[in-house]
Amino acid sequence: MKILKFGGTSVGSVKSISTIIEILKNESSSGENPVVVLSAMGGVTNLLSTMANKAAAGEDFSAYVTELESRHFEVIKALLDVHQQNPVFTRLKILFNQLEDILQGISSLREITPKTYDLVLSFGERCSTFLVSKIAEQSLGPVEYVNACDVIKTDSSFGQAKVQTELTDMLIRDFYEANKGKMLFVTGFIASNEEGRVTTLGRGGSDYTAAIFGSALNAEEIEIWTDVNGMMTADPRMVKKAFPLKELSYIEAMELSYFGAKVIYPPTMIPAFMKRIPIVIRNTFEPSFPGTVISHESRPSEHSVKGISSINEISIINLEGSGMVGKAGFSGRLFSLLAREQINVILITQSSSEHSITFAVNPLDAVKAKLLIEQEFELELEAKKIEVPEIEEGLSILAIVGENMKKTSGVSGTLFHALGRNGVNVRAIAQGSSEYNISVIISRVDLAKALNAVHDAFYTDLKKTLNVFCLGTGNIGKTLFKQLEQHRDFLQRQNGILVNVIGISNTRKMVFEEGGLALQNWQETLDSSGEPADLDAFIARMREMNLPNAVFVDNTASQVPIAYYEEVFRSNISVVTCNKIGNSASYQQYRKFSDLARKHGVDFYYETNVGAGLPIIRTLKDLMMSGDRVIRIEAILSGTISFIFNNFKGDTSFYDIVKQAQEKGFTEPDPRDDLRGTDFMRKMLILARDAGYTLEPEDVKIENMLPQSCLDAGSVEEFYEQLKVNNDYFEGLKTEAESAGKVLRYIGKLENGDVSIALEMVDDAHPFYMLSGSDNIISFTTERYKERPLVVKGPGAGAEVTAAGVFADIVNVGA
Ligand code: ADP
Ligand code: ASP
Ligand code: MG
Repeated sequence: MKILKFGGTSVGSVKSISTIIEILKNESSSGENPVVVLSAMGGVTNLLSTMANKAAAGEDFSAYVTELESRHFEVIKALLDVHQQNPVFTRLKILFNQLEDILQGISSLREITPKTYDLVLSFGERCSTFLVSKIAEQSLGPVEYVNACDVIKTDSSFGQAKVQTELTDMLIRDFYEANKGKMLFVTGFIASNEEGRVTTLGRGGSDYTAAIFGSALNAEEIEIWTDVNGMMTADPRMVKKAFPLKELSYIEAMELSYFGAKVIYPPTMIPAFMKRIPIVIRNTFEPSFPGTVISHESRPSEHSVKGISSINEISIINLEGSGMVGKAGFSGRLFSLLAREQINVILITQSSSEHSITFAVNPLDAVKAKLLIEQEFELELEAKKIEVPEIEEGLSILAIVGENMKKTSGVSGTLFHALGRNGVNVRAIAQGSSEYNISVIISRVDLAKALNAVHDAFYTDLKKTLNVFCLGTGNIGKTLFKQLEQHRDFLQRQNGILVNVIGISNTRKMVFEEGGLALQNWQETLDSSGEPADLDAFIARMREMNLPNAVFVDNTASQVPIAYYEEVFRSNISVVTCNKIGNSASYQQYRKFSDLARKHGVDFYYETNVGAGLPIIRTLKDLMMSGDRVIRIEAILSGTISFIFNNFKGDTSFYDIVKQAQEKGFTEPDPRDDLRGTDFMRKMLILARDAGYTLEPEDVKIENMLPQSCLDAGSVEEFYEQLKVNNDYFEGLKTEAESAGKVLRYIGKLENGDVSIALEMVDDAHPFYMLSGSDNIISFTTERYKERPLVVKGPGAGAEVTAAGVFADIVNVGA
């Protein structure tokens, strides 16, 4: 025989009640009748609680009673045959009238006791269970409505009553025997004390009712039917990637639920564990899904951690002082005091010096706990042996759980790395010596981020999600969005990486979408629903969203965003940038960026600062990291300059070639911006810094390739005129090179810590001799590559390759 418990989520509506009936039909057709335990209709217990509080405050509660009635009456009308409806209406109406009388009483007294409160709450289960039993009777044969108050006996701790197991077991068995052949419909959650007063088993306690019945009747299985596919790896409302677990041990289920996994009420596991009855969590709305089995047979999973759970709202109380050191019995006194006063202590940590004890409680209990401690330890406080206890609010607990953890090292390392990398400060830590659980106390504002980051860290076989905020929608930005959109599926399938663009801003507008913007129409979204751009606000929003694996992408060439990088790093957000300005200004700033990134455990990638998508920075860093030493770097890092000198040969004049370069769109509007070498200088400077040299921009020696008059020319037209005027000078250079069997190349060089950029003539032994088109080239001569340098060559400019470089940097974040 099985126990089937349906939670409020499954008794919420006409549709879900019909589904329950189908499930029960299926079950009873396979043999024995199950025992059915029901919760109140979804939300009803909260509604009753509100009514009770309104009544106690002397406020009007009638609207709530009406709502309660109509929710039940709607089900009667929809699911009962017309001639069956009246008696059920009448019975429920009597219950609602009783409830109203009780509420009137509370209202006149302006007071509510725990006893009356439990009585009020009991109406939820009594109404729903009676109602569903009557609906079931129409198609399932004889049924019996069971008010659990008649069979579950407890002490008088209203709100959280303790069950008298022996008596209860006996009553349940007798009742079951006396009603053989009928399908029992039992009210969850409620019970009664010796005097027959209604008590409740704690919020969520219908699960427990199911286990109490299961244990008393030695059921073969206890099924908890709810609205999710079982116990998930984390709260699915907060972690989108949470997935259902196949199996769990009782201890794991207990730990997960104790630390917040609401799907099952923790005490439920105890009777089931004692009698070795498996508990199965199943989805009413997907009955074919097998769900989660909680049993003795649970095998270890492939993950070191089974699940992650959390308690959203806790407060901690800190107790400090020399009076506690080495004092046997101090903590005993403290915790017996709290237990006596029914204050549930969720977690305790004590420093090994015994100088302080920190414990976590429900925020509603915090002030009471503090007062109790102050009374109990009055003498110690007066003698200054302990300090006045401090309450800290706004905190949450995150716990990782799994029996596997004790056999696996590095679990806590993974946990703290994920938290640290995402800037989540840990206020306190507790690990049970059983090692089934590591709990950390963190700020509530960080909880969602922490849960997702920790989930990503332990379930690495799942997709990694990067949450990206992009600045700049020029050529590179646009192209990046196109590439991200095109490769989205492939990236997920092949690499398990999901790049979500959460925010986009240009200088006019900005737009955000917490779940990720649809990139196929980002432009329309930005234009139609964007707000006016404001970089301060953009950064602030990015920080407030507090998403895990956040990446700030600067696709501008502007000075403005650079001022925000520090703040971004300090917020534990990685930076990917194709903007060279940040790294090529003062050395101090360059250093600061890398130091901050390292300090905050995030990434700073700027591969596209040098040679667009070509793997130049990465190659240099890999060489350095593997212990190689740079002897010399030579490079042509400007597509424009490369094109000009690769094609300045034969009859072509220098004027012609610069014109051509401009016509092909290789140059800035004023070609001198390229030919002056400023951009080249920046790239060389960044390379030299990455190679370990402390250099300032003015340390780079640039030899002008242009005669002074070309540089001095006022307009672009005048500049071109001057190129013609200086034709002989350029022709002279060309002839000199050609007659020596050489070619002209404008080359950047790093050697002995000096960086220079100069026009050189190279022969065919030089790797740059054969350069063509507008390619960039760089050669690294190192200890390892001494005989023949390591050369990287290819297109070093253009939106496609630059965006691809930015893309690669983004995907590497957190790798
Ligand atoms: P019922 O009304 O069926 O008793 P509850 O609301 O008490 O349902 O519990 C089910 C809910 O628990 C789910 O809808 C889900 O949002 C929440 N929940 C929190 N943590 C978890 C978890 N780790 N696994 C599954 N569900 C969880
Ligand atoms: N109806 C009760 C509650 O909401 C019991 C339960 O649903 O398990 O707490
Ligand atoms: Mg529940």
